[in-house]
Amino acid sequence: MRTAGLRPTRQRIALADLLFAAGDRHVSAEALHEEAQAAGFSVSLATVYNTLHQFTEAGMLRIVQVEGARTHFDTNVSDHHHFFIEDENLVFDIPSGRVEVKNLPEPPEGTEIANVDIVVRLRRKVR
Ligand SMILES: [Zn+2]
Repeated sequence: MRTAGLRPTRQRIALADLLFAAGDRHVSAEALHEEAQAAGFSVSLATVYNTLHQFTEAGMLRIVQVEGARTHFDTNVSDHHHFFIEDENLVFDIPSGRVEVKNLPEPPEGTEIANVDIVVRLRRKVR
């Protein structure tokens, strides 16, 4: 946290423990707030939300923006793509190397492609 330029307050440490203890994951502010409550850590949803955005600005998290879904914060900040199960508001990684993007447009003059985020939307099969 210090290397990211953030003062390690008690709340930030507690939330970072919850976030990063379990390996790569995708979590919404609401879900992390519930986890904090369950762990007996009293914190407001607004504080959780602010802290997640501070972690993101510090490069410790990245945001997975899925239209029509809650904002998910990803503890894996490397470039990768996601599956999204619409009815369950569930985001998870597509294994690396499984997506090949071809024929991207030439970026307009003076710009370059920063990254390409792919979200593959899923639904459970009805049977
Ligand atoms: Zn991810």
